[in-house]
Amino acid sequence: MTALRERYLAEMGIPVWRLRVPAPPSAVAETAEAADVAAVDAVAVPMVAPAEALGTGEDAWAALAAKVKTCTLCSLHKTRTQTVFGVGRRDAQLFVIGEAPGADEDRQGEPFVGRAGQLLNAMLRAIGLPRNEVFIANILKCRPPNNRDPQPDEAACCTPYLAQQIALVRPRALLAVGRIAAQWLLQTDTPIGRLRGRVTTYGESNTPLVVTYHPAYLLRSPHDKAKAWTDLCLVKELLSRSQ
Ligand code: SF4
Repeated sequence: MTALRERYLAEMGIPVWRLRVPAPPSAVAETAEAADVAAVDAVAVPMVAPAEALGTGEDAWAALAAKVKTCTLCSLHKTRTQTVFGVGRRDAQLFVIGEAPGADEDRQGEPFVGRAGQLLNAMLRAIGLPRNEVFIANILKCRPPNNRDPQPDEAACCTPYLAQQIALVRPRALLAVGRIAAQWLLQTDTPIGRLRGRVTTYGESNTPLVVTYHPAYLLRSPHDKAKAWTDLCLVKELLSRSQ
């Protein structure tokens, strides 16, 4: 294990275990092979069409941001402090998708801030992608009261905005963080433990999609950080393949 990788794992809070006997070279190869096999297990998922065509480029981003900012399509507009549109590079290779803003996000107008956001940042840095190199957004742009789960009708109203964002960014890969985001995007009730660790696809563009645990969950359950690390390695592998 390189010093650099050890530093990344330490930053994610993953303890580094050392084998008492050196692992044979085949052990490393098997790990890479397992990820490789997982990477071809594709599931076709229908793309939710954008509410309306907004074109492309800066005008399209501005039009979309304006629509979200003033949106009243679902009842969450009544309780939000502000909408949380999303942040990041508009030509990012990786698009990270969470479920909905929490209290900090609602206050600051930015997704994934606070402790969970810091862990997400560390996870992204671990695969060589600082936060400002990816695009980050949620399925819902407004906070559900008391951080309750999004309702299906709210997600259905809001997903076209996300679909439009994905269409504008045209990422090489999507990373769904958390059960809610993963199950909604894949339209399944399969437990997250069976959705993560492999690659599915999303939308008509068949954009590769990897699922991993939500950083808020990882803060409560650090024993699963090692699994999240393998998911991120899968993302890195995907991105390096598609260059
Ligand atoms: S959650 Fe989405 S659909 Fe609902 S009001 Fe906010 S922006 Fe509109």
